[in-house]
Amino acid sequence: MRIVVDLTRCQGYAQCVFLAPKMFQLHGEEGLLYAPAVPDDQAERVRQAAAACPVQAILLGEEVSADGR
Ligand code: SF4
Repeated sequence: MRIVVDLTRCQGYAQCVFLAPKMFQLHGEEGLLYAPAVPDDQAERVRQAAAACPVQAILLGEEVSADGR
């Protein structure tokens, strides 16, 4: 699974950081950092994070291409 976070929407509520700390981190002034490629063992957490985001900034993509793009 891959994710994209719409950083223009993200308001730094940190719900995603709380639910999936391995995938999302808040870095002060820089804002949210995240890993676009989601390992299988993090997929459920990321789904919960996407559902919990108050502004629906986390977009999920189920298709993973072999070359990782
Ligand atoms: S939960 Fe949504 S708004 Fe909050 S930090 Fe994560 S992506 Fe941004």
